[in-house]
Amino acid sequence: MEKEQYFNIKRPEKSCLLCGCSLLEAEKHPSILVHGGDEPLRKDFCPKCWERLQDREYFSYWITKRLKPAPDRRLTRKERNDLLLRMFESLYQHSDEKKATMLFYLAHLLMRYKIFNWKGTRSMPADTEKNLPERTTLLFENKQTGEEIQVPDQTLDGEKISVAKKEIDDYLQNNMSTEIP
Ligand SMILES: [Zn+2]
Repeated sequence: MEKEQYFNIKRPEKSCLLCGCSLLEAEKHPSILVHGGDEPLRKDFCPKCWERLQDREYFSYWITKRLKPAPDRRLTRKERNDLLLRMFESLYQHSDEKKATMLFYLAHLLMRYKIFNWKGTRSMPADTEKNLPERTTLLFENKQTGEEIQVPDQTLDGEKISVAKKEIDDYLQNNMSTEIP
């Protein structure tokens, strides 16, 4: 059997037969065919193991070139914007003091991506019932629906920002469609 023909029916292994190291990231590595039962057996080795291998019995030997695994698919701008807006809206509906940082951060991202317009600020009087001091609310407008959006002003520090960023990244990653748009 021609090596090229064999290529078509048997894919290279993910890992080295001897040490188990990943061959996915290897640019190239040795591969052999040995006589098996009904059909030839393909064996893939990392270059190090191949060098150390004493018993090199094979009827075909070649160097397999591997393609690097495709990097994670990136979201299109529209997908990213849609997901960010969806994330914002679900938080916005369940207005929760604990999520105030997230809402604040997302609203600014959406403004940067031109989904929201900046409308200004409004000062909210103290609410003694809810034990809230006088505070500032930021006003945005959803450009598509014209809806006014009110987000309590926040003071962010580096740690809060990195927590928010991580949460957003995870959300985008977990909600990414696996289909190519
Ligand atoms: Zn190896």
